[in-house]
Amino acid sequence: MKSPIRIVLAGSCALGLLSAPTAAWAEQHRTAAAPKPTATAKPSAKPTAKPAAKPKPVDCTKVKCIALTFDDGPGKYADKLLATLKKHNAKATFFLEGQYVKSRPAFAKQMVDEGHDIGNHSYTHPRFTEISIDGIREELKKTQDIVKKVTGKYPTTIRPPYGLLDDDTKTVAAEMKMPIVLWNGGSRDWATRSEKAIYDEVLKNAKRDGVILMHDWVAQTVTVMPKLLTALQKQGYHVVAVSSLPGAKTLKPADVFPAGAAEDKDLSADSPTGDPDDFAESPADGS
Ligand SMILES: [Zn+2]
Repeated sequence: MKSPIRIVLAGSCALGLLSAPTAAWAEQHRTAAAPKPTATAKPSAKPTAKPAAKPKPVDCTKVKCIALTFDDGPGKYADKLLATLKKHNAKATFFLEGQYVKSRPAFAKQMVDEGHDIGNHSYTHPRFTEISIDGIREELKKTQDIVKKVTGKYPTTIRPPYGLLDDDTKTVAAEMKMPIVLWNGGSRDWATRSEKAIYDEVLKNAKRDGVILMHDWVAQTVTVMPKLLTALQKQGYHVVAVSSLPGAKTLKPADVFPAGAAEDKDLSADSPTGDPDDFAESPADGS
């Protein structure tokens, strides 16, 4: 299986699916929808000392946004990464593996508590193109359940392992009423394991409303993050969760985001799709 096949359903999903998005997805959108400033800012309001207002959601239709996504976690450095994100007022999207949610529940809970997006990245990271549809269903459902149990919330999107997408995965995503999120910029962090290379690759691939693939089990990704966030913010980017990106607001079950990602033949080069010995997934050592 040298070159994994990416099978694309040409746009049929949006027409064929009439079901509403998941409650969790819809709820997230409600909170993400920017309230009209006039609704609360009454002219009579006096500048009295108020408790710190909740930060307003970023409106990516008005400002430049980018979404950093972290796969295969919670990785063992996730706490360090979360501290960096908080310091930079940045939000991320974590595509979690159920097996690591089980071994590092506190990290998963902290991700949700601190307002990051959580996606479902299977339970044990098999190639969905090589297992049965029942297998795909079980991998995704088990992960939904453990994330809900640990964090109180269900993941709202699916990212299949290695970005491998076929008809069966789309069928299950439709059943589960969840959109599919891929990416359109890599970091190759798993391959280079170099802070400089990761930094350069992300800045090279950064674009407005882009979705970048990274891994929080790669130590260098976590250690370079303060510098990388500083550079992105200096370039005017607001670093947001995927659900804040303009195109993500209207996704229906089994839709693929970002637009065009499923047709991108180079995408798989960003993910560790080759010899499994080339990379080591986040070890479930609980440390
Ligand atoms: Zn993965």
